[in-house]
Amino acid sequence: MAIERTFAIIKPDAVSAGNSENIIKIIKDHGFDIEDMKALQLTQEQAKRFYDVHKKRPFFGELVEFMTSGPVVVMALSKENAVQEWRDLMGPTDSTQAPANTIRGQFGTDVGENATHGSDSIENAKIEIAQFFPELA
Ligand code: UDP
Ligand code: MG
Repeated sequence: MAIERTFAIIKPDAVSAGNSENIIKIIKDHGFDIEDMKALQLTQEQAKRFYDVHKKRPFFGELVEFMTSGPVVVMALSKENAVQEWRDLMGPTDSTQAPANTIRGQFGTDVGENATHGSDSIENAKIEIAQFFPELA
């Protein structure tokens, strides 16, 4: 299987709860290479662009408010089958449904405040990495 990239965010809930280091350790322990990483606070414009696909959904306003509420950590990860492996390691969107051995199961609260983001396809990973790490694109 080919080495591929995915894009990850440690969301404001997990950063403010002090879980960034734990999550980064789990990522490394699962064999992901962190190609680049930086901490920043998303602007409204950045969050709206990032979640543009969800702009018609009822939770969009709340999602943008949450994602801009505090610092995040953005990462470009690489590994064989990275997109699917990172989604599996995060667990399902709704943290209350996430198994205890997943990141959302351990660090998420509910369907909105769910600790991390992961790209859902190789194509979207490229778009998301290009937004935050244009030098990698
Ligand atoms: N979200 C939410 N309410 C919902 C569904 C999603 O607040 O009913 C938020 C949640 O933070 C989620 C993000 O919107 O991670 C993007 O939703 P998506 O369906 O793409 O889930 P993901 O790919 O993050 O698992
Ligand atoms: Mg998604």
